[in-house]
Amino acid sequence: MALLEVDDLRTQFYTEDGVVRAVDGLSYRIERGEKFGIVGESGAGKSVASLSLMRLIDDPGRVAGGSIRFYEESTVERFEQQFPKRVVDVADLRAEHDVTELVDRLLEEGVAPSSIADDRLDADADAKTVVRDGDVGMRDLVDSRYGVDLGIVDDDAVVVHDGSERYIEITRADGEPLRQLRGNHIAMIFQDPQTALNPVYTIGEQISEAIRTHMDLDSAAVKDRAIDMLDQVGIPDPESRYDNYPHEFSGGMQQRAVIAVALSCDPDLIIADEPTTALDVTIEAQILELLDDLTTETGTAIQMITHDLGVVAGVCDRVAVMYAGKPVEIAPVEELYYDPKHPYTVGLMGSIPRIGDGRERLDTIPGTMPDLVQVPPGCSFHPRCPYAEEACTRKEPELTAVDSGDRADPVEDDAHAAACLEYTGDLQQGLDYEVHVGEGIETGAGSETTEENQ
Ligand code: SF4
Repeated sequence: MALLEVDDLRTQFYTEDGVVRAVDGLSYRIERGEKFGIVGESGAGKSVASLSLMRLIDDPGRVAGGSIRFYEESTVERFEQQFPKRVVDVADLRAEHDVTELVDRLLEEGVAPSSIADDRLDADADAKTVVRDGDVGMRDLVDSRYGVDLGIVDDDAVVVHDGSERYIEITRADGEPLRQLRGNHIAMIFQDPQTALNPVYTIGEQISEAIRTHMDLDSAAVKDRAIDMLDQVGIPDPESRYDNYPHEFSGGMQQRAVIAVALSCDPDLIIADEPTTALDVTIEAQILELLDDLTTETGTAIQMITHDLGVVAGVCDRVAVMYAGKPVEIAPVEELYYDPKHPYTVGLMGSIPRIGDGRERLDTIPGTMPDLVQVPPGCSFHPRCPYAEEACTRKEPELTAVDSGDRADPVEDDAHAAACLEYTGDLQQGLDYEVHVGEGIETGAGSETTEENQ
């Protein structure tokens, strides 16, 4: 069952040089207790996506579109009782308004059809036809910012009812609802424990502060829970370590303390943003194992942000690969490893050191991530892609189910999907690559099987 759905998220920064489309149409779903990875190079948009989820995007940035839906039932129920004026009922809106008229109003105001409902309206689409076909519905308007623009949804409506479906729309959460979501339900582990911890407070006090803020416990129980959390994350002699300052902990112990803070309020989801970047490889393995074990024990879901496919392999169930603000491949982790479908993923795979692969040098992807103010037309990866053809420079590939060639919806289905013209039949030469796995060589989707693995 879905815990979180991110649907067509668009986060932009308005700078003097132009609009930076840091996240541009990202969609995915995380199930309860699932471990989901988001991978990409620096500048791919993965950290901005996570900060959007925590509502931590500051000026000059903002979430310009899309929906982030949180489905945890007891939280939705509590929010309904606590904030009854912040509930919107989609069934009521359907009874009160004609969707076709609302879409027409948007089009008359100059809104691009493609931005109303996740690219389901072509630039020259007849709105009445697509609405009548059920491609755009009231939920699309409620979930997007257009519901507010049209005056049918209050700016602060945070709980959405649609028949039996009920969820919290995080993009509209602020004030007390947002404070309750953060820490209680969604917690974040940042890259560098040295900056995540306050040097002038003891470790124990910092864990206690999180517990005190989000849980209704007396001071003795708060301290007991903080010591228990230190114990759970493997800090020896937790009673005495409770009074240590961060500088008295090693880097690995500091990151364990940060994990203790994040887990201290039993969140439903932990966002771990490159949680082991600042650590050496031995400690990295320990921290990843700890995070994996603790979240499995507690049923907490993880959204793991990393540039390292090796980290994802050790922890995650499914993975999305991002490039230039967009998802370019999404798949169960094993499929992504053994049978990557997008040339960018293949490039990332080639840059992983593997025991016994016999290469003297690791492969690199030529070029760099594009300027997100002026993303190349067509497929944004085409200047770096060894298989690029003329069509790639003008036609933007959409996320496509690699088996069926159908448009993929990562919120609704689990299809292995990639955004490459190969899967829409628009590539003439096809893809031709090899994927090195362990001591043998396995072939990718468009490649020929090699002698090594026959
Ligand atoms: S669409 Fe073209 S440029 Fe983009 S990944 Fe596929 S082959 Fe490469």
